[in-house]
Amino acid sequence: MYDVIILGAGISGLAAARLLHQTGLNVLVLEARDRVGGRTHTLHDPRFGYTDVGGAYVGPTQNRILGLAEELGVETYRVDGFLYSLADIQGSVRRFSGLVPPIYNPIGLLDMNNAIRTLDKMADEIPPEAPWKHSNAEQLDSMTAKELIERMVWAESTRRLLNLFVTTVFCVEAHEISALSVLWVIKCGHGIERIGNIAGGAQERKFIGGAQTISERLADLIGSDRVRLRSPVVTVEEEADGVSVTSEGGETFKGQFAISAVPHAILQKIHFHPPLPALKSQLIQRMPMGSVIKTVTFYQSAFWKERGFSGCSMSDTGTVDYSIDDTKPDGSHPAIMGFIQADKARTMCLDTPEQRMESVCKHYAQIFKMKEFLDPKDYIEKNWMEDTYSGGCYASTFGPGVLTSFGEALRQPVGRIHFAGTELASEWAGYMDGAVQAGERAAHEVLHRLGNTHPNEQELPSPTVAPSTSSDSPWLPGVLPSVDALLGFGGIALAAGLAWFFQSKL
Ligand SMILES: Cc1cc2nc3c(=O)[nH]c(=O)nc-3n(C[C@H](O)[C@H](O)[C@H](O)COP(=O)(O)OP(=O)(O)OC[C@H]3O[C@@H](n4cnc5c(N)ncnc54)[C@H](O)[C@@H]3O)c2cc1C
Repeated sequence: MYDVIILGAGISGLAAARLLHQTGLNVLVLEARDRVGGRTHTLHDPRFGYTDVGGAYVGPTQNRILGLAEELGVETYRVDGFLYSLADIQGSVRRFSGLVPPIYNPIGLLDMNNAIRTLDKMADEIPPEAPWKHSNAEQLDSMTAKELIERMVWAESTRRLLNLFVTTVFCVEAHEISALSVLWVIKCGHGIERIGNIAGGAQERKFIGGAQTISERLADLIGSDRVRLRSPVVTVEEEADGVSVTSEGGETFKGQFAISAVPHAILQKIHFHPPLPALKSQLIQRMPMGSVIKTVTFYQSAFWKERGFSGCSMSDTGTVDYSIDDTKPDGSHPAIMGFIQADKARTMCLDTPEQRMESVCKHYAQIFKMKEFLDPKDYIEKNWMEDTYSGGCYASTFGPGVLTSFGEALRQPVGRIHFAGTELASEWAGYMDGAVQAGERAAHEVLHRLGNTHPNEQELPSPTVAPSTSSDSPWLPGVLPSVDALLGFGGIALAAGLAWFFQSKL
């Protein structure tokens, strides 16, 4: 009889297990795959050393994952974002530094500035623990992100950049996702600038040795006998005095409580007895994972850096939505990481890896205007859409109406079963940091039910490490007017001028 059985050895399940193990409880983690780490996956090969084909980037304010990494002795390095980035919007390519590509049209500039400022302001009002409790939740949740963007912007360039922001952050098209859920994630990630930037933002750092190292060290800490790989859970049964969890091989384990750290979309593969309550059962049918193929293309040298480019690019019409330099911190294995996302991923998943590689290289050659991109040394990719135990990535998304109708059921325990996983976080939801928060929260819930507390309970849920740098983008001047305000002011000035003119003539 275990105290707690945890389903899933991703960061969230292992963070929960570590906390419970530290308290002296007898835990068992059941993991479906032959490895820990879930949506973080580091490949090792002499061809490229190591490379992350899953979650990888961390940045300031993600203090739970940074603190955990520090405790486990996993170091970070800064991603190269110091040189020029490229934006390819509707086929027009511009270089820039910071968050937003240059907009030379003054109306477009005011419009973009106002859109980011307004989205941040709206997001700031969302309760991170319960976005469905926002005073305007129903209206915001009844529209898609695309509709919200349409209502807000004047310029085509702003519309395209904001749609691309949604695609790169959520791996879906802006018409698929609720405006409320986008604002909630902006709130959870401390604003658009923090989410979008490299320096000072969520892409500032990577882990030396790869992000999966975090889960591997957590598993070592908990004990390999307590983390069972190749054990997909197929049934969870609640009994009078505990839970009974059965894996695909037919082995059954008994515990007092269970924590499910399996992504909600994948919970549909597990049989629950008694069945999940109505709202939970319907919620797990409404949290589809995003669509993404992560690619890493290796070259003989980092020739793009020699020509002043960081390797960071964004493109709304080209093959790769977002790219970033992936050369190792010591300069070895020069590479570019690129995400193929949403509709592009759905179209290109029908191609062969060779065809995708060719398309990715052609895309880089075209936007960077460097033919050397056509001659890769190596190419690796992972199509997360076809991954049995993730079903897509980076995380679940919420279509219109889901948060307001089913949100209450997200973290609600069901009998002796508690729920973790990054989607259930209230800070950096969808990210590795959120996975830690959600895992520790579920562990605390169980501890309380066992009449137990963690010795450092007061400290644990709060950040443990001070972030490295602050955001350094000069963007977002707060004083610039919106296009609406400018037109309003222009209208008033025109009316006053006409009034003065006619008055002086009469
Ligand atoms: C391509 C990609 C890029 C990303 N980029 C970033 C990034 O740069 N920064 C960032 O912070 N985050 C990023 N993420 C997201 C990040 O990886 C996730 O938020 C985080 O790893 C989720 O952790 P988790 O423990 O909540 O879920 P998971 O990692 O999904 O863990 C769930 C575990 O449950 C297991 N499981 C599933 N079904 C069963 C079953 N029936 N029985 C037992 N076990 C089961 C799975 O195998 C898995 O190990 C990215 C993800 C991807 C895929």
